Amino acid sequence: MKVRLADNSFINDSIVDGPGIRFTIFFQGCSIGCKGCFNPQTHSFLKGKLYNIEKIKEIIYKNRHLKRGITLSGGNPLEQPQAVVEISRYAHSINLDVWCYTGFKYEQIARKETTLKHIDVLVDGKFVEEKKNLLLKFRGSFNQRLIDVQKSLILKNIIELK
Ligand code: SF4
Repeated sequence: MKVRLADNSFINDSIVDGPGIRFTIFFQGCSIGCKGCFNPQTHSFLKGKLYNIEKIKEIIYKNRHLKRGITLSGGNPLEQPQAVVEISRYAHSINLDVWCYTGFKYEQIARKETTLKHIDVLVDGKFVEEKKNLLLKFRGSFNQRLIDVQKSLILKNIIELK
């Protein structure tokens, strides 16, 4: 299986995409088109680079030291749900937690439990420029939610991180 990632595909030591030191992967392709998007070069589904999923696993493995987890960013990772499943399952298998950003709302994807099975935290929803707040941790605008996915799936209700 292949995954399309952005030209600058990886950050090895991010501290802004979730707690701890994280390995961030930037997906290419987003259909949402938020006004004021911080990463417009990731919108096209034709640009970026195609990687074999096995290669991504290798890269994660090599960069796992001192990491708390991986973060899937973009772009909109959930435009490539199968790749998200494969990568997040692999991260869990080597004890890394998984955060995933998406312009979709949790309600749009909650019934796809397989896609969410190995995601710990979903930062969901469009970026809304009028709701932007630089003081917010791990998100750009206050309509976006930090959702504890596994608790939400079990309780069949949206549980946000405290
Ligand atoms: S969902 Fe993310 S990548 Fe897509 S337009 Fe909105 S802010 Fe940009």
